[in-house]
Amino acid sequence: RYGSTLPPRSSAFATATKEHVEHLKSLLSSPNGVMSTLDGSASVDDLQPFNDDWMNKYHGKSQIVVKPKTAQEVSEILKYCNEQGLAVVPQGGNTGLVGGSNPVYDEIILNLSNMSTIRSFDEVSGILQCDAGCILETMDNYLADKGFIFPLDLGAKGSCQVGGNVATNAGGLRLLRYGSLHGTVLGLEVVLPDGTIYDSMGFDLKQLFIGSEGTIGIITGVSILAPKRPTAMNVAVFSLSSYEAVQKVFNETKAGLGEILSAFEFFDKQSYELVKRHMKEGGEADRKVFETEGEFYVLVETGGSNNDHDEEKLQNLLEKLMEDDLIQDGVLAQDQTQFHSLWKLRELIPESAGKAGSVYKYDLSVPVPKMYSLVEKMRARLGEAGLWKEGGGGRIREVVGYGHIGDGNLHINICADRYDDEIEKVIEPYVYEIVAEERGSISAEHGLGVMKAPYIGYSKSPTSIELMKQVKKMFDPKGILNPYKYVVV
Ligand code: FAD
Repeated sequence: RYGSTLPPRSSAFATATKEHVEHLKSLLSSPNGVMSTLDGSASVDDLQPFNDDWMNKYHGKSQIVVKPKTAQEVSEILKYCNEQGLAVVPQGGNTGLVGGSNPVYDEIILNLSNMSTIRSFDEVSGILQCDAGCILETMDNYLADKGFIFPLDLGAKGSCQVGGNVATNAGGLRLLRYGSLHGTVLGLEVVLPDGTIYDSMGFDLKQLFIGSEGTIGIITGVSILAPKRPTAMNVAVFSLSSYEAVQKVFNETKAGLGEILSAFEFFDKQSYELVKRHMKEGGEADRKVFETEGEFYVLVETGGSNNDHDEEKLQNLLEKLMEDDLIQDGVLAQDQTQFHSLWKLRELIPESAGKAGSVYKYDLSVPVPKMYSLVEKMRARLGEAGLWKEGGGGRIREVVGYGHIGDGNLHINICADRYDDEIEKVIEPYVYEIVAEERGSISAEHGLGVMKAPYIGYSKSPTSIELMKQVKKMFDPKGILNPYKYVVV
């Protein structure tokens, strides 16, 4: 599944032995923190969830999983691996979608899930300090109890970790309101490949680690600014007849809702159908959400401090959009249950696509007016190759488009009967070529991992790539951290 562009396993790396496992155990406070098939402390099956990725697309062959509990332990492990020439892959919640979090060959998996302590929270400033292995949803619930909100939200929140979020510079559903992690992260504790523990004071070097996908250091602690949680939240979903209308509604919504707008998501009717089917298969009653279904849907969320005020604004917006014929139908959540069920229409898309087949996933960024044409071009391309047919029946079961339109971020999911090189060749590098034509980004938020490492040149200049390689070499001269990925030196 790694394609023909993957470099072979580097002979510069040592092959792990039972002795290595013994030594790694001696570095941890608990020997249970190391699982390995080499000394019989774990079976191949035990290690499989760490070797496989969320999509079941990428499969590593590591024989060792290490789960340290402190930054000091991470430091000891990296120091040892660096000395021994053992390659390491940092792993958070393993929800990444580009094959970045699992090994390509036999790299040691350094999993952060045992580092999940909240270090401190300041209720005046809103500054949260936590271990990198804290689960995003756990942190958001913790903050909710105190009247604050985590400035990031995404569909994988129940499993992904704060460290993984920072390492991928995750965008997600609240970026429109709270901005990127480059602004909200105040400090990082990072263990460098030689074991040095870096605490980000002085030059703002922490920015280098945000989005570096575990290639230049392991994030062990995060300090982040949590805003006050809006006390009034509401959501509406509209059905629309065209992508032109989606853009106009976005403009009207920004103007009409102003500071209370907290998310603006869009999805096409194919995405909506997948979700409906998935919910039905999961036993949910078939319910009619819209009187008039559309070609496209947008989800608008508001977050403010006065429910009546926000509801009035949302109601006025709904009426104006109806009057101007920009939307066909609209549903406004009436209570918490409806709030969540409307959000589900958007949040369940990735899972529903996964149920429909083996999914080729792309997160792309191009100017908003051009965004949906990428989906149409992709359908045409797959149709010409005889893989996709309107209405079904081809090896490609569905091609759907959705995303965070508020930050120009499109997801294309291509559901195939199975992962297959023939299909992949039709899609790649074509998908990156059409992005490059618009001078867009081949990775809006998921990162490059192993999947897109060969294609970095489609959205980064040779100068940028060279500088990135120099940075990688400076932090990790032996190249032990997350090799074969992101920027291959
Ligand atoms: P992992 O998948 O474990 O790792 C991701 C990368 O970060 C790997 O390269 C890994 O080596 C590195 N890494 C992990 N932890 C550390 C660490 N502590 N130090 C250094 N490197 C580390 N992403 C978005 O941006 N926006 C979305 O809206 C979004 N929605 C999603 C919805 C679903 C249903 C799913 C399955 C995924 C979604 N993702 C989204 C992708 C993914 O959840 C994010 O990339 C997330 O930030 C990854 O966190 P994680 O802890 O699972 O990291």
